[in-house]
Amino acid sequence: MKKLYEQLPGRICTWYAQNRRELPWRGTRDPYLVWVSEIMLQQTRVEAVKPYYTRFTEELPDVEALAACPEDRLLKLWEGLGYYSRVRHMQEAARLLVQEQAPEGKAALPDDPAALRRLPGIGSYTAGAIASIAYQIRVPAVDGNVLRILARLQADERDVRKASVKHEAESRLQEALQSCSAPGDFNQGMMDLGAGVCLPKVQPLCEACPLADLCEAHRQEKETSFPVRSKAKDRRIEQRTILLIRDGDRVVLTRRPAKGLLAGLYEFPNLPGFKSRQEVLQTAEAMDLQPLYIRELDRAKHLFSHVEWQMCGYEIRIAGFTSAGTRAAAPWFLAEIEQMEKEYPIPSAYKAYAKYLQ
Ligand code: SF4
Repeated sequence: MKKLYEQLPGRICTWYAQNRRELPWRGTRDPYLVWVSEIMLQQTRVEAVKPYYTRFTEELPDVEALAACPEDRLLKLWEGLGYYSRVRHMQEAARLLVQEQAPEGKAALPDDPAALRRLPGIGSYTAGAIASIAYQIRVPAVDGNVLRILARLQADERDVRKASVKHEAESRLQEALQSCSAPGDFNQGMMDLGAGVCLPKVQPLCEACPLADLCEAHRQEKETSFPVRSKAKDRRIEQRTILLIRDGDRVVLTRRPAKGLLAGLYEFPNLPGFKSRQEVLQTAEAMDLQPLYIRELDRAKHLFSHVEWQMCGYEIRIAGFTSAGTRAAAPWFLAEIEQMEKEYPIPSAYKAYAKYLQ
């Protein structure tokens, strides 16, 4: 077994030198830029990340800029990427770094993986990626891609979701990397191999793989039987009725609570369950609005990691407010549609309804 791990760094670094993907964040050793790219890549495909990465790092080019960014702007820059807690944790970490280091100079991410892991939102994978790519520290970055490759190489029957499987992979790779002169290239090579050759869920491209002669799953012609994965918990279903309430060029928005799912983001008013036209009209009236017209919109659904939203929606045109007095106290407000698109971070769960505003 040890022999297999010993051979990985040399094989992967050689392959990576000839096959690396050219990506906007490749070629940099700026730990801040590596950090941003790694957090974005945890949730979205490479192609989708590219424009987000460029926009985010142009506006927030370093730790100080991230620490100082107003919350609404930060969430707007992240809009569409989902998992907003990740960017909040990044800002929390940036603020800690500025607090600790700014009096002595520019704030920077530490090179020690253990110190990186103490920052909010940085786990062993991200710490390994930052330390190895930016600082050339000999530490692995083990994510689902790497676990899949290792499971196939060893035809490993163990459940890849188990923490013990990941810990073992980390410690074996840690040992194997001690003689590697380019640990950052090794980790990026494993990422590229997982993304382009040892593909998830489908038949991998073993004929292009630099590890094919070492691979037990390939020898057994059972590549897609690995990794073995326990069944994920079913998502909880939530039904909601979305209210697209409009007054000319304006639309009613509310803000979500500061904690929990999609914390602090803006959204269209919504009600639990599927409501009838009559119930929706009653709600609009209770909001002190004068509905002129109502139409039912298409149903939609959105998947979060643990919850599935099933949505129905209504567009309601309003004449205005029945009394000016209650408006200031209302938990909702009318926003210009153009302003909403530019300034208010709206979760992509509402995309299916935001399109009716265009
Ligand atoms: S030989 Fe095939 S299954 Fe094995 S690691 Fe390479 S691509 Fe994956």
